[in-house]
Amino acid sequence: MTFNFRRPDAYFAWKDKEILKRFSRYRGIIDGHQLSRYLIAKNLECEFNHNDSLEKLEKILKQKSKEFNMLLNKKYTFLENSVSKKKSFLDLLETIANKYLEDCIFCERKCKINRRDGKKGYCLIPADSYVSSAFLHYGEESVLVPSGTIFFQGCNFGCVFCQNYDISQTWKGKKGLSEVARRVDPQDLANIAEKLTKENALNINYVGGDPIPNIHTIIASLKYQTSNICQLWNSNFYLTEKSLDLLVDIIDFWLPDFKFSNECGLKYSGVKNYFNIVSRNLKRIYNKGSGEIIIRHLVLPNHIECCSKPILKFISKEVPNSVVNIMAQYRPEFRSYKYPEINQYSNSKEIQKIKDYADELGILWEPVS
Ligand code: SF4
Repeated sequence: MTFNFRRPDAYFAWKDKEILKRFSRYRGIIDGHQLSRYLIAKNLECEFNHNDSLEKLEKILKQKSKEFNMLLNKKYTFLENSVSKKKSFLDLLETIANKYLEDCIFCERKCKINRRDGKKGYCLIPADSYVSSAFLHYGEESVLVPSGTIFFQGCNFGCVFCQNYDISQTWKGKKGLSEVARRVDPQDLANIAEKLTKENALNINYVGGDPIPNIHTIIASLKYQTSNICQLWNSNFYLTEKSLDLLVDIIDFWLPDFKFSNECGLKYSGVKNYFNIVSRNLKRIYNKGSGEIIIRHLVLPNHIECCSKPILKFISKEVPNSVVNIMAQYRPEFRSYKYPEINQYSNSKEIQKIKDYADELGILWEPVS
């Protein structure tokens, strides 16, 4: 890893033996001796018909997922990178994602509307995906920079303190999506990812807003991507178990948020069962996915006892090899003026208390915070 004056911490983070151990596959992809998961999925043949019932396709997915996980540990000397005439595991994932889009259950809001028919759910995202910007990001966690970040317009959350509210919230009801962002099909998205790769991105970082409403476009774009680069999911992580079934095998690195109790999730983001759902999904990627995870914990003012401590306790117990970014950059934005307890900047004494508590629990946070 070369030294970069913009982010010297990136160089030093990789000197940490624990970071190297916990992110060994990601580092292997960067160094070119490991293959990103989507390339393996693309080369795993899979028999199915597009008009098979959803139930049948989900059954095939379960079987193929087992086969995929056996292939992961194989040593590859060569992988066919052209588009094969035969159907692959990736084609199966794309087909199922498109069926979910027609009765949308991508996130736990489960709007169950047919986005293909022009109907819109809570997120107001149609069947098409919209990208507001894409660039080499030097502001992400040390081990991720430079990150090839793709910002999708729109979000399935309604956080009252959103710091990206221009792309997640305020466009709603004011302008058409196409006036504020660029519509992308899977080939366009793949072109963006390949361009970022050529510019030396270490990963392709799907974010927003949130990438969840765009799962179908992202999976389909992987059919057109060819580079051996880490695929990174950067999200509120409020996706359904079925959506996670589509991603758990093919995502190399996970960057989920985890910031609330159930009660505070409802109050500030308008979502039910926040803690239960995010913790369920975290256990899944930890035990069945790559397990290479940085959890972003944004410390909210006055929320140590109800949110920060229970979250850190869960992490130390259930997903202990995850690395945690203890985020001190909270600032009152958007509609936080309506909530006096969070209508203030984060407080350095509270941040220190959280860091001390993470140390007590044995959580690794320093190299990425
Ligand atoms: S992704 Fe959007 S339409 Fe689909 S369930 Fe979530 S909020 Fe509803």
